[in-house]
Amino acid sequence: MSYDSSNIFAKILRGEIPCDKVYEDEFALAFNDISPQAPKHILVIPKGPYASYDDFIASADDAEIVGFQRAIAKVIGEADIIAGGYRLLSNTGVDAHQAVPHYHVHILAGANLGGKLVA
Ligand code: AMP
Repeated sequence: MSYDSSNIFAKILRGEIPCDKVYEDEFALAFNDISPQAPKHILVIPKGPYASYDDFIASADDAEIVGFQRAIAKVIGEADIIAGGYRLLSNTGVDAHQAVPHYHVHILAGANLGGKLVA
């Protein structure tokens, strides 16, 4: 999947549209999902132009990959959701219904999230 810099998360990173920010560092930006699917629903995105998980791992350097993973962990810690549990989710491509073509990880928590997802 090639990267389309007109996607909405790229616009958020460029400051062209606002977001409800919960965390930011050199490698990542985290903000509340505009249409939450759980009481806590946070999106974490890398700052670089990566369309998907596979693109990120193939194209990002090691510092970006480690920094992004540590940013996710910081967001989880600051959200106070470890005791209750949480789900990490990353949709990629057509079959997974990826809506925004900038790699992102959903953090879902705050309620019983049920079992595995169904189509
Ligand atoms: P996905 O289907 O995995 O690509 O998820 C995209 C997510 O982005 C959805 O959960 C949307 O609700 C969320 N979203 C879209 N636009 C915004 C926005 N401007 N601010 C926050 N979340 C957004």
